[in-house]
Amino acid sequence: MKFAENNNQAAEYLRRAIPLMVQHNIPPNPLNYALWYTYVSDRVPELNVQLDKTLNTYGTCPAMLSEQLFREHMIKDEIQGTDDIQASLIGLINDLHEHAGETASKTEEFNDVLAESLDSLQSKEDGEISLPLESIIQSLSTHTRSISDTARMFQERMEQAQAEIESLKEELNKTRQDARVDPLTNLFNRRAFDAELAQVVGLNGSEFTSSLVLVDIDHFKKFNDTYGHLMGDKVLQYVGKLLKDICLEPMLPVRFGGEEFAVLMPGTSKEQAFEIAEKVRLKIQAIRIKQKKSGDIISSITASFGVSQLTDAETVEQLIERTDQALYQAKNNGRNQVVISSSS
Ligand code: GH3
Ligand code: MG
Ligand code: MG
Repeated sequence: MKFAENNNQAAEYLRRAIPLMVQHNIPPNPLNYALWYTYVSDRVPELNVQLDKTLNTYGTCPAMLSEQLFREHMIKDEIQGTDDIQASLIGLINDLHEHAGETASKTEEFNDVLAESLDSLQSKEDGEISLPLESIIQSLSTHTRSISDTARMFQERMEQAQAEIESLKEELNKTRQDARVDPLTNLFNRRAFDAELAQVVGLNGSEFTSSLVLVDIDHFKKFNDTYGHLMGDKVLQYVGKLLKDICLEPMLPVRFGGEEFAVLMPGTSKEQAFEIAEKVRLKIQAIRIKQKKSGDIISSITASFGVSQLTDAETVEQLIERTDQALYQAKNNGRNQVVISSSS
């Protein structure tokens, strides 16, 4: 769940939430605060119904119930994906356990047959023939076949399990991606960025200026075609790291999508943002990668940048559109450059 209220609104919720918590004897820990903040904001009606019911019953909200309500109403989307994967993994392990059990009991059975056969053979040595040799061999052969069938089935099941684990791993990666962090660069993703941007746009005013920078790697399709997708991924990781190293807090660098990055720069003018973008541009231009096979040096990586300063009367979409236009201009002017949006 995201909270995009501005300062005044958030402070108002705080003023209402705390007395309610005190009145109902609810410890003001972060989990409870999130719950009661959401309660006074009225944004999840179902949570309010549940909390009202709980208060009617207990006069307070017991810790276990608070945690349950928190999981159900506030982080449901975030945990749903991982819960499904966890359930599949447990199913898979139970299934393998069952097959391993079957194989073990067959093996035990086989051991018994071996012991019995050995007994019969030994008694033959003593001169008392309890079973004809042929029948001992027959029994051994039947059981050997049966145990090797079981072992093969177990082997097949293991192979299937391996494939299932691979696909679960992929799903897990997807769930991570769907959340807030981009798995390739470890930067926040577009989803996390949108929430943050909405908040900064809300804050923007006469004494507080912020800027947005969009970064797009030049001719990246051609780069992938020439050097391969894996090498392309390495470049994206490296650019992500550069942005993280240069754009320190409170700046927020994110992977905007594909080969595009964005940096939100709260409290930064467009001139300052331009300077920072230039620094990143020069670092990207200086990237040198030695190719393992040929030993050739790749030195052709560049990126284009669009910069804009937030204006008061602008929506998030308009701001992104305007910054994108500056970026488009940088591309049109010949790439590997930073362009400041002319309308801010
Ligand atoms: P321009 O200079 O106009 O931006 O040209 P471009 O080739 O960079 O732009 P285009 O939008 O035509 O192509 C973007 C390319 O980025 C195509 C796509 O294969 C590549 N790309 C997007 N995401 C990834 C990724 O995660 N890894 C790799 N290796 N490549 C990616
Ligand atoms: Mg692009
Ligand atoms: Mg590009």
